[in-house]
Amino acid sequence: RMVTRFAPSPTGYLHVGGARTAIFNWLLARHNQGRFILRIEDTDRERSTPEATQAILDGMSWLGLDWDELHYQSQRAELHNEYIDRMVASGHAYWCSCTPQQVDAMREKATAEGRKPKYDLTCRERGLGPGPGRCVRLKAPLVGSTGWTDLVKGHIAFPNEELDDLVLRRSDGSPIYNVAVVVDDITMGVTTIIRGDDHVSNTPKQILIYQALGAEMPEFGHVPMILGPDKKKLSKRHGATSVVQYQDEGYLPEAMVNYLLRLGWSLGDKEIFSRQEMVELFTTANLGSSPAVFDQKKLNALNAHYIKESVPERLAGLLLPFFAAKNLAADAAYVARIVPMFQPRAQTLKEMADKAEFFLLDDAALEYDQAAVQKFITEGTKPHLAAIREGLAGLPDFSESAVEGLLNAYVAEKGVSFKDIAQPLRVALTGKTASPGLHETIAALGRDKVLNRLEQALK
Ligand code: GLU
Repeated sequence: RMVTRFAPSPTGYLHVGGARTAIFNWLLARHNQGRFILRIEDTDRERSTPEATQAILDGMSWLGLDWDELHYQSQRAELHNEYIDRMVASGHAYWCSCTPQQVDAMREKATAEGRKPKYDLTCRERGLGPGPGRCVRLKAPLVGSTGWTDLVKGHIAFPNEELDDLVLRRSDGSPIYNVAVVVDDITMGVTTIIRGDDHVSNTPKQILIYQALGAEMPEFGHVPMILGPDKKKLSKRHGATSVVQYQDEGYLPEAMVNYLLRLGWSLGDKEIFSRQEMVELFTTANLGSSPAVFDQKKLNALNAHYIKESVPERLAGLLLPFFAAKNLAADAAYVARIVPMFQPRAQTLKEMADKAEFFLLDDAALEYDQAAVQKFITEGTKPHLAAIREGLAGLPDFSESAVEGLLNAYVAEKGVSFKDIAQPLRVALTGKTASPGLHETIAALGRDKVLNRLEQALK
């Protein structure tokens, strides 16, 4: 049975690159009806924070990536040490009494002699036991090579000469990172590991630990890093890299997941994948081996697509916090009514909230684009606005079609064109020259706001 995991270190927010790794592993598990494990790698006590852990859990939930098991690596140190003891007992690891200063000197000497800086194996055959200040080292093979067939990159091998007798347990008794990862992956039954290719250099060390433990190796797939438009590794310099930041800017989780999936995985030129399609179609065979560039425009286009597809009630619920941030109290049912007017064009919820704000503002708080007022609310148009206001005041039912009927009758009677009254009305009611369709806008604003705003504009 397939078991995958996402193993973030909680030292910051959930990065889009991490989220993408999580998506790949989640999909692989779901596609194969396997298990998906979330493992918080919080062994670096100084850099790990509870807030960062919470941010990861929240980000995963927001993206809809549910986990079957949750583990905290820091709680497993005893188990990690038990496995180190087994390696010592089986002769695959040994106690070393060399001090950090001595090891530094060995490395400097090797470098000076043009060799790779390495531990010089002083304690390898000494048969030392435990003692203060002693660490445990892996008895690594000295010849041959260590390699694997990567699911993404094909065959990779490192000559063993280049690998060190790496420290497994520090002299303070704490197991090192690569031991923790391997012991956790073994004991959790992980069968397939997809991770960023910044971990390629850890993999041979981990394989040696698997071998020393006589454990079966999982499959590894190392995906290339996400790049910014300048082809350098994506970082804060390029804009938002945190998943929660995208949530705050009004991206929908399904757009984010669809975008990140396509960034490094493809199936022909199909761009849009429903959750169900992803689960059905995802296999590691289509993981890309060349780095992908993060393209904000593409993400925006996908977000626009999913906004268009969403039911208004859901978007209304998601928009309320954006209005609240503007100190606008909004009623969900009312927002659901106006949302469809903005769905065809909005790229983000934030943009939607900005564009829809005029519906919710108190009339007195409506801001007018002054240039538009000067251009459209003139001595020539004011009489029309006043007359239309009278007409709207007496309209028995304030529906979109009734408003439309009234305006059509008005332009026919006065012999003016719709254009002559449309922009003046729009500016008077919304403060701007761009808004959704006028009839719909008037009907949705409601009679009170419409009459108030026209009166206000006529002053
Ligand atoms: N904790 C590591 C990281 O956040 C990932 C380890 C792994 O996937 O093996 O980069």
